[in-house]
Amino acid sequence: MTPLTILSEDERMFFDTVLAFARERVAPQVSSMDAASTLDPGVLRGLFELGLMGIESPSERGGGGSSFFSAILAVQALARVDPSVSVVVDVQNTLVNNALLRWGTDAQKERYLGKLASEWVGSYALSEAGSGSDAFALKARAERRGDRWVLNGRKLWITNAAESSLFVVFANADPGQGYKGITAFLVERGFPGFAVGKKEHKLGIRASSTCELLLDDCEVPAENVLGELGRGYKIAILTLNEGRIGIGAQMLGLAEGALAHTLDYVRQRKQFGKTIAEFQGVEFQLARLALDVEAARLLVYNAARLKDAGHDFVNEAAMAKLFASEVAERTASQAVDLFGGVGFTQEFPVEKLYRDAKIGKIYEGTTNMQLQTIARGLGSKS
Ligand SMILES: Cc1cc2nc3c(=O)[nH]c(=O)nc-3n(C[C@H](O)[C@H](O)[C@H](O)COP(=O)(O)OP(=O)(O)OC[C@H]3O[C@@H](n4cnc5c(N)ncnc54)[C@H](O)[C@@H]3O)c2cc1C
Repeated sequence: MTPLTILSEDERMFFDTVLAFARERVAPQVSSMDAASTLDPGVLRGLFELGLMGIESPSERGGGGSSFFSAILAVQALARVDPSVSVVVDVQNTLVNNALLRWGTDAQKERYLGKLASEWVGSYALSEAGSGSDAFALKARAERRGDRWVLNGRKLWITNAAESSLFVVFANADPGQGYKGITAFLVERGFPGFAVGKKEHKLGIRASSTCELLLDDCEVPAENVLGELGRGYKIAILTLNEGRIGIGAQMLGLAEGALAHTLDYVRQRKQFGKTIAEFQGVEFQLARLALDVEAARLLVYNAARLKDAGHDFVNEAAMAKLFASEVAERTASQAVDLFGGVGFTQEFPVEKLYRDAKIGKIYEGTTNMQLQTIARGLGSKS
């Protein structure tokens, strides 16, 4: 595996610590969690214990006080072993904590950041059955009644929902204003009128829960509006711009994991009297995968570094997410090929990685949506 040459000593140590955790605590559970479509509670506890659920939150609120880049490294390291566990950490840090850190009032930060760092899982609920790529066509509504908001509607595809205690929910509080009525609300699982609905039965990342949310006269205290009223669309755009780098990191880690498993396998599997790694035809295939993975790593790290440095990173994030998800799919597919027949079975991990790879091109903006962002960026640069 390529050494992590572009990391500082501290960053490399952090990455290695997360990877060691993933190998010791997550790896033994990967197959059973995939088969049962559930996240092992011990694995989830381990994520909190290692400080991976509040990486950027300030230390005085129980977080790690670290950088966005560190969150990206954690997502990458976990995805080498299990992309499902990786996305739990990704959504918690790059979407939920991130939104609170940026737009939360002091009281909201006080109430939620500590809990999110130590025991509460969070979810980010934008999508609905009728609004995916066209996210601002959402139908969920919020109506002011006295000292509270009352939310009605359905949210679909919500990651972590089975485990979550806090949901960032987007609903339109003033449909007459179009997308400028969209507002973000902090909804606790126990609020009246809130329920988690059916859980999806998925192709990949099966240990990560994906559920419907039911908002039936869901009562949210007025102080739980996140950011300004009618500015939810901005919160959604800005958080997803950052979250996308996390998905790039997840796909990068997945590709690295698939390549590592493949290298181990081809170096011991013999055909025609020698290991299959010794055939130049195979060596060249592996060289191409290594090149792809390296390029994905540079794109993902560059986007994350730009974000931390306060530079514009929107196009770079779209490129990183798009490219890393293509690399993950190609690498996992080639891995299955190079394992031969056993690659097609659940005896070896590459079959699962192949299934897991597919989601990278879909969530947090499909590949076509990333292409749209990149194309618009070309316009502004010409
Ligand atoms: C496992 C999983 C987890 C998810 N987690 C979350 C979550 O936590 N929170 C959340 O809010 N959402 C979540 N989502 C939803 C996800 O973000 C959407 O599925 C995604 O944005 C695509 O929307 P859609 O499914 O409605 O597809 P559609 O928008 O219907 O797209 C279908 C196809 O049409 C293409 N298309 C659409 N519009 C255009 C266009 N203008 N030009 C060219 N092509 C276009 C798309 O690229 C795609 O190929 C999750 C989804 C999945 C599957």
